Amino acid sequence: MIDDLIQFLDSSPSPWHAVESTIQRLEGFVCLDETDAWPSLPSAGYVVRDGAIIAWRMPEGDVAPSSSFRLAGAHTDSPVLRVKPHPDSDAAGWKQLGVEVYGGILNNTWLDRDLGIAGRVISAEGTATIVNVEKPVARVPQLAVHLDRDVNSKGLALDAQQHLKPIWGVGISSPDEFASWIGSQAGLPGPAAWWELCLYDIQGAAIIGADQSLLASGRIDNLLSCWAAIRALVDAKPVEHTALIVFNDHEEVGSSSTTGAAGPFLEAVLSRIVAMRGGSPEDLHRAFAASSCISVDNAHAVHPNYQDRHDPDNRPIVNAGPALKVNANQRYATSAETAAEFQRACEAAEVPWQVFVSRNNMPCGSTIGPLTATRLGIATADVGVPQLSMHSARELCGAEDPLYLANALTSFLTR
Ligand code: ZN
Repeated sequence: MIDDLIQFLDSSPSPWHAVESTIQRLEGFVCLDETDAWPSLPSAGYVVRDGAIIAWRMPEGDVAPSSSFRLAGAHTDSPVLRVKPHPDSDAAGWKQLGVEVYGGILNNTWLDRDLGIAGRVISAEGTATIVNVEKPVARVPQLAVHLDRDVNSKGLALDAQQHLKPIWGVGISSPDEFASWIGSQAGLPGPAAWWELCLYDIQGAAIIGADQSLLASGRIDNLLSCWAAIRALVDAKPVEHTALIVFNDHEEVGSSSTTGAAGPFLEAVLSRIVAMRGGSPEDLHRAFAASSCISVDNAHAVHPNYQDRHDPDNRPIVNAGPALKVNANQRYATSAETAAEFQRACEAAEVPWQVFVSRNNMPCGSTIGPLTATRLGIATADVGVPQLSMHSARELCGAEDPLYLANALTSFLTR
């Protein structure tokens, strides 16, 4: 099972690849296109919008128009370096690529890694192609300690414009060099016209620790949650509710986009499902009111070297089950009721669970949970596997927690 997660992480270096990897696992699910009139509503189906996907499985038998949903939501994007338009430049004998920082990366973790490039390119004719150059192409070299004598005592300060620019060869750049190169890598007849391309560490996911208890990889936040939700949907046998997963893009940059959780994608698909069941606007609102959602995104495990950064009574540890994330200021959507619901789902699946609450003097992150709860009025709990090194180019979590999470979500989607 963990091998499938490793394969999922390694084959999903961009949001578009994460959607492809999701579809591969949705065996027997019918693909519907948003631009088509849907001829009928498949009992197991999915809809893709760019780097986002929604998939569902209905209960057997007749389903009332106002029938409720059980949702698990996660996000496909991760903080990365992305290739800018007009990326070609050279300096001091090196060819370099212009990059833009996407989301809240940990700058230093991108240094001295062998980087591949993945995402999508658009041809001169306007055709989109997904591309993954799975070999070491670029590198952001760190300054030698001999030339930066205070780095270990004073810390490393990196300017995102000046110091994160990767090298990708030697010599003099030509103006369309990158466009031509990525065009040929993607199998286009000529240079790529446009692109959305992520740099990524080509070192694959690995089980580590002398006791094989840990998983190291890029993009654990939040592809681990996507993988667990897919497993849950594939295994779920919903009785009362329609089980549904929604993976949004752009969570790491605020979620405000056509594919982000603040956008209309989920509402559009839920509305169409209810309409195809013959539901009225009132049925739609009844369905929302009776539905519930788990927003799945990783939590901070307590770091052994920085224990003072955690609330002493609500700090999750690895391989002890998913954490319910609670924030009274609604940075997380969890309420006492939705927490109790998730607890019951865990207990039914014999999965341990724990709680994460930030220290009062530490700002708290957020997730897609509050957005789903706010936009649609669907009761939501925020839940996630505890991890270390969040937003590092290579993150770390427990090797047992992914399956705990998948089993808890199966229980939630099925109840
Ligand atoms: Zn996340």
